[in-house]
Amino acid sequence: MEREGVGRAVLHWDETLVEEEEELWTGDEDDDHSGWFCVRTDPFPCPAAGCTFVAEFMTAAHLILVWEERDDPNLLWHAQRAKEVGRNPRVVDYVRAYGPSASYYAWEAAGRPVHGIKGK
Ligand SMILES: [Zn+2]
Repeated sequence: MEREGVGRAVLHWDETLVEEEEELWTGDEDDDHSGWFCVRTDPFPCPAAGCTFVAEFMTAAHLILVWEERDDPNLLWHAQRAKEVGRNPRVVDYVRAYGPSASYYAWEAAGRPVHGIKGK
């Protein structure tokens, strides 16, 4: 009986999740950003309600934000912000194995889309 209730809840939740995923920005996903730089952080959950994604990098809409230059002022600014909130940021070389990436500037040009912070 208890199990039945859980099953229904999961099904409902999956449907909600699919709807949200379709709206997620996918960036310039075909670009290979190997050799660019990203910011690794302590794991933190996606701010979207009901989302199970846990980021281990500085991300937007589940994509790892990458910068072409290690000393890019925007990279340094975001790393500093992450440090201030205790996320222990480290600038590292991006490799594809980390997951899908998006250029910070493409993200900014797209209007800085993120998962879960809309409406309200
Ligand atoms: Zn999410």
